[in-house]
Amino acid sequence: MKKEADCIIVGQGIAGSNLALHLLERGLKVEIVDDCWNGAACLVAAGVLNPITGKRLAKSWRSDVALPCAKKFYASLQKKLGAKFFCERKILQLCKSPEEAELWHGRKEDPAYCGFLSQYNPPSTVKNLNDNFGSFFINFAAWVEAPRAMEALKKYFLSLGVLKLEKFDYSRLKIGADFVEYQNLRAKKIVFCEGWKAVENPYFNWLPYRPARGEILGVKIEGGVSEHIIHREKWLMRCGQNLYRNGSTWDRINFRNNAPTLEARAELERALPQILGHGNFEIFEQQSGVRPCTATTRPHLGAPPKFKNLYSFNGFGSKGYALTPYFANHFSQYLLGEIPLDKEADLARHIRKFYKG
Ligand SMILES: Cc1cc2nc3c(=O)[nH]c(=O)nc-3n(C[C@H](O)[C@H](O)[C@H](O)COP(=O)(O)OP(=O)(O)OC[C@H]3O[C@@H](n4cnc5c(N)ncnc54)[C@H](O)[C@@H]3O)c2cc1C
Repeated sequence: MKKEADCIIVGQGIAGSNLALHLLERGLKVEIVDDCWNGAACLVAAGVLNPITGKRLAKSWRSDVALPCAKKFYASLQKKLGAKFFCERKILQLCKSPEEAELWHGRKEDPAYCGFLSQYNPPSTVKNLNDNFGSFFINFAAWVEAPRAMEALKKYFLSLGVLKLEKFDYSRLKIGADFVEYQNLRAKKIVFCEGWKAVENPYFNWLPYRPARGEILGVKIEGGVSEHIIHREKWLMRCGQNLYRNGSTWDRINFRNNAPTLEARAELERALPQILGHGNFEIFEQQSGVRPCTATTRPHLGAPPKFKNLYSFNGFGSKGYALTPYFANHFSQYLLGEIPLDKEADLARHIRKFYKG
């Protein structure tokens, strides 16, 4: 006898987890399959919810709706799971040059951004850090301690008996007109949330994914530094007494091999003294993960041509922690037939150019 469910979710990263939570909340029966791959982006991520990102210092896509939603969601999630992994923290943005300081000053004068930024702090204001071109605080930011959050989520789904720990084998999926079957599971729908591994999914590998590997270091800094999220080209954040996570790198070529590299380590080792103003730190760890980035920097949500019960909830790139609480709610409403998909995130926009049938 098969176990009946409304929805099978493949991948218990932050996307699959947040979607499962929303569907369970709506009273649906969910079954999750995850292979616990230790290079998943969700385990390595900085977990920063940052309203202003990128070289242009612009508001990130959908951040006006996604950030307030994410903050509320993680604050209540940690209560539900009985674990501590979320806090609101400002970002201490150390300017790396006079030109960058000018850009930030420009943003401070822009009415759409001024509320996000503190007054300019002149050089030598911040203790134990290199603020030689001054600094700003970015307000309304927050931090999810990614490894702890993922551990708590896994424990929760296991306690509900809805998480199967194994690799999903696409060749064993049976697709009917209004059902799917996988091993002992029978469900109305299946949603794929495998992160960058979507490039191996025969139903969605035609989508324009651009995976990007990122590496981070665990570092010990005697005497410690500010508790804020610190950013000067790279980020640095406290995760214990004198212990920090520092990242990250971008590699769009060697993403299939997940072993940490000497090149990434050297890049981060060179950048950290620029943040600290000295080189007194000790590396105790290096980790690598792959971001499920896409060619358009928009997620890939929806069903492929010819299938009505097969979906992708993927492609959250470098912002999975920030975007998935909002989009998991949006996507569960879409799955229940209540709303259409956000047009910019709907994978249908890629069919004409990339789908070969
Ligand atoms: C260095 C780095 C820093 C980052 N910093 C931030 C940040 O500050 N803020 C932010 O919002 N985001 C950040 N991100 C991005 C964020 O981590 C990703 O957007 C997010 O993890 C994507 O979530 P996901 O669930 O789609 O994919 P993943 O995290 O990759 O999870 C996919 C899951 O699916 C499983 N899986 C895959 N294939 C199969 C299969 N065949 N069978 C079973 N299970 C399978 C994997 O084991 C994994 O558990 C960062 C990422 C990196 C690498």
